[in-house]
Amino acid sequence: MDDKEYVKLLDRALKDIPEIAAESSDFVIPNAETFSQGNKTILKNIAAIADKARRNLTDISKYLTKELGVPISNDGQQLVINGRFSNDEVNRRIKRYFEVYVICKECKKPDTHLESGGRGVIYLVCEACGARYGINS
Ligand SMILES: [Zn+2]
Repeated sequence: MDDKEYVKLLDRALKDIPEIAAESSDFVIPNAETFSQGNKTILKNIAAIADKARRNLTDISKYLTKELGVPISNDGQQLVINGRFSNDEVNRRIKRYFEVYVICKECKKPDTHLESGGRGVIYLVCEACGARYGINS
């Protein structure tokens, strides 16, 4: 390999680095899309949020019920929150849900699942780095 060729290869290798880095830190917590309907707040994109979190829609709904302190129903596509909440109020809870129940606190990746440890203890298990820790719910 002559020098020119080597430089060309090096060039290409360097160019590849930022792409790889961008890919691994690509995860963005989805924004809740909400609108109010009378005294209710509709969370339109709960299915997409649940999909991104790889969690059951019902689990997220239960979490929001507890956090917002009002009954919530769902039709499988959207959540109907019994109360008026701003988009920011809902978004903060969604963000928190991801931070606590989805994103691994060791490696910051969302490739995780939850395991029941019995007696109401929930463990977050990371499929990316192998971390396993209890969550206070
Ligand atoms: Zn991890």
